[in-house]
Amino acid sequence: MKKFAILCFVFTVYSCNTNAQDAKKENYSVSKTESEWKQQLTIEQFNVLRKGETEARFSSQFNQNKAEGTYVCAACQTPLFESKHKYDSGSGWPSFDREIKGNIKYVVDYKIGVPRTEEHCATCGGHLGHVFDDGPKTTTGKRHCINGVALKFIPKTD
Ligand SMILES: [Zn+2]
Repeated sequence: MKKFAILCFVFTVYSCNTNAQDAKKENYSVSKTESEWKQQLTIEQFNVLRKGETEARFSSQFNQNKAEGTYVCAACQTPLFESKHKYDSGSGWPSFDREIKGNIKYVVDYKIGVPRTEEHCATCGGHLGHVFDDGPKTTTGKRHCINGVALKFIPKTD
């Protein structure tokens, strides 16, 4: 009987998780199935945006990008970061001291054992990176550590 109770408990926890996942997906205004995303995105983009993986350090073409413009979500084009808030953190990933307010959703993840604040595109739920408190002290103190592959750069035109 005890075993059965434990099984029931495990099952309940498991199904709660599944429901939570489904609910999370439905909250985004741009919502696609896994195979639809696979068709639209490159393998690298899919692994980061949809699977939450991290691109290799110093692999992003945006690390050295100093051009003026806006960084948008590679999956749904939502504007996420402005070039004027980009800085060289030396981390090997594109870094910004602030986001475009309202366009990013924050979730705490425990993937490496300690809590980290994960950033998602608020429109499509795509995983972008993490935010840390070791950013520039003279501005916000925040370091938005973003996978370049999750971004698309739109140069400024005037
Ligand atoms: Zn998006």
